[in-house]
Amino acid sequence: MPVGTQGTVKAISPEELREIGIRIILCNTYHLYLRPGYKVIQKLGGLHKFTNWDGVILTDSGGYQIFSISPLQKAKAEGIKFKSHIDGSEHFLTPMDVLKIQLSLGSDIAMVLDECTSYPIGYKEAKTSLEKTLRWAKMSKLAWLNEDKGERGLFGIVQGSTFKDLREKCVEELVKIGFDGYALGGLSVGEPLSLREEIIKHTGSLLPSHQPRYLMGIGTPEELLEDISLGIDMFDCALPTRIARNGTVFTRRGKKNLRNARYREDPNPLDLECDCYVCKNYSKGYIRHLIQAREILGMRLTTYHNLYFLNRLMEEARKAIKEDRFDKFKKDFIQEYQDT
Ligand SMILES: [Zn+2]
Repeated sequence: MPVGTQGTVKAISPEELREIGIRIILCNTYHLYLRPGYKVIQKLGGLHKFTNWDGVILTDSGGYQIFSISPLQKAKAEGIKFKSHIDGSEHFLTPMDVLKIQLSLGSDIAMVLDECTSYPIGYKEAKTSLEKTLRWAKMSKLAWLNEDKGERGLFGIVQGSTFKDLREKCVEELVKIGFDGYALGGLSVGEPLSLREEIIKHTGSLLPSHQPRYLMGIGTPEELLEDISLGIDMFDCALPTRIARNGTVFTRRGKKNLRNARYREDPNPLDLECDCYVCKNYSKGYIRHLIQAREILGMRLTTYHNLYFLNRLMEEARKAIKEDRFDKFKKDFIQEYQDT
């Protein structure tokens, strides 16, 4: 899922997203709640109409953003109190408020409010936080049953930091409550990569395999393929669009930074093996010039290519899984990708 924090995937129009083949985007509840405000979006016809995106929209609960961006936040038993990073105004949201906001936005897949712990964190603290997350998950499901007419999905979020037994307990309790899909939260917050992979492997194997398993906030092409082999089905990450705006593009032979002087007179496309609109029509030398001159078109072209690259990678991964050759596909891709 490309990330559309402010109700837009930065530098790209919904028409272009459709052309690339994207079918689902993520929007951030925290940002849209503060600006322009969910009531404004509701008045203007809901998030799909507001943004002219007729594909699927997943909205996060805002928990992660509140913990990572808000200058002052406190998770109380009943909800989260926080200050806006825009104007300093004070807010208090319960798990039910968060769901109602997502429903009024017209989200297709809503996420429950959770407490995202930082890393490292002590066992006792992680356990207390997890109890709160589970209590909120129960409250959210009850509220959801009253509000939803079976047309949308509600996902639970697995927390428990890097403690395997807490992750296990969380999965067990969430599955008991019953959600339409399950996300792994609280990862990619500073823990070592090997520990993260261990937790993903362990937790991924416990989640119901007939429902979507979603890893939040990850990752690079190699990480996506590694995590798919650990059982993950869905991802979101701002990385491909963020690095694109800085002039870095994915290619079959690894990431390339267009600011490098060696591309100044390069007549080739960004990636010789890519058949996207950008690679068919523009040279690396021209796009490098646009990036160096901070021209908007440069950022648009690199963003288009990076999203196309990842979307095609996921299409190829799905095909490889269906044809029972995913491990070889992954190995070949990673080998070529690292062979820079
Ligand atoms: Zn391309």
